[in-house]
Order: sequence, then structure tokens, then C-alpha cells
Amino acid sequence: MKKPHIPLGQIRSEVEACKKCALCEGRTQIVFGVGNPRARVMIVGEAPGKNEDLQGEPFVGAAGQYLNELLAFAGLVREDIYIANVLKCRPPGNRDPQPDEIALCTPYLREQTRTIDPEFIVTLGNFSTKFILKTDVGITRLHGKLQQAGKFKVFPIFHPAAAIYDRSKRDIMEADFRTLGALLAESPDPKFVRSEADDAPADPAKAASPAQDASFAGASEDPQKAEPVVPGDLLTADTSAPAAERLPLGGDPR
Ligand code: SF4
Repeated sequence: MKKPHIPLGQIRSEVEACKKCALCEGRTQIVFGVGNPRARVMIVGEAPGKNEDLQGEPFVGAAGQYLNELLAFAGLVREDIYIANVLKCRPPGNRDPQPDEIALCTPYLREQTRTIDPEFIVTLGNFSTKFILKTDVGITRLHGKLQQAGKFKVFPIFHPAAAIYDRSKRDIMEADFRTLGALLAESPDPKFVRSEADDAPADPAKAASPAQDASFAGASEDPQKAEPVVPGDLLTADTSAPAAERLPLGGDPR
């Protein structure tokens, strides 16, 4: 029996109540994610910063403004995509996410990804790239090269914040977003639609499709383009447990 996709609102409620790690003590609010719940492209960043923590949305500061500019190179606007982070609460002083925090928080990201069911996952920076691809290879080597994690096409790109402090990265990032746009144009998929409502449940037809579920659990690589590192096992595991055994969402998926 395939695992049903969980509505985003239900996952959000779990995150809002989450106290699994110490980051809950310093948060103003969670930063769950925002955007088109039926997005073809899901962007995964690192963790909320100060502005995100205050406003409850990812990428709202300077890095967010630059991300908007970069999306245009791929022919995208914010309303087309869904954006989430590896961590849902702000690390103090914007320090790096810790391994235990990532382990505790990423089941939420995994469920978000299953529900949104994007074609492309764009990982911004090292933390999301290493988590999604289950690799130790860094973003400097992987950026701009199409990868595969289970059924998902994964396209790593530097984090926009990196280009704010190091302007030499701008040309690289803009070229990578152009490449993303070319990949999207190569295989237009009519099942993806522009946003109608923020954070609404995903298209039930997608959740009910046996073909979709089958491709989620197994690799569907395009050997012409993909350069697989390793399948992202957190995104492919646990597809058979009944819903009652999977909640709370933050539980160990394995
Ligand atoms: S596990 Fe995630 S949502 Fe829960 S407190 Fe930690 S960072 Fe926040």
C-alpha cells in the first residue's frame, strides 16, 4: 500500500508544535515554506535567517531579493515555485545547521517534498545539496550539474547569500539559472500549473496516481543528462507504512 501524501497544512501544524530540538526556544516563529503547492520546481535552502524568523517566510531579505533576480534567468517568478528550507527554525546567530538538528527536522522537508511532488528540486548551497543527494561532495563541484535523487531531478546551485558577499559568484549563479531554464524548456510538463492559492493541498489527482507513486520510490534517471551521485534515501524511504504509523511527522523515518 502506497503512503498517501499529507496535506501541507497538516505538516505545517506539526512543525508549529515542534519542540524536537533546541532551536524551538529561540524562534520567533517557524519558517515552513511558501509558494505554489503544485510547483514544477521546488527550491530548498538552508535555514531561516533573522528576517525570515521575523516574517515567517523563507528568502525575504537581501538573499531573497537576489533570488528573485536569479529566477528570471530561468524564466521563473516566485509564484511558480515552492521554497522551503532544511531547517524550519532559525539557528542562533545564523550559524550552520548542526547534524542532529538536520536529522530531527528533515522528515518535515521530506513530507513537504512528497506532497508538492515537484519535477525539479533546486538545492541552494551545501547543506540542502548534501542532504538531498546524500553526498559529501560539495556545492563547488556539483553546482550547475543535473543530478538525480529517486524520481526527482536535482539541480544544485550556490546559495544566493554567497553571491552577496562574493560578487564573483554572480556570473556562475546566473549561468546556472540559465541552465535550469533550458532544462525546463526542454521538457515542458503540462501537469504543472501556476499557483492558485498559497499552501493549499496538493492536487489530489497527483497523490492518487499509481504512476507517480511508483516513480517516487524508484529511480527514473535520464542517463543523457543526469549525473547521479547517490539516491537521496530520505526522499525515497518509507513509502509503505500506514498513515497511523507515520505520525507524528517528525519521527524517525527509518
Ligand atoms: S526539529 Fe525543526 S521544527 Fe522542530 S524545533 Fe528543531 S528546527 Fe524547529
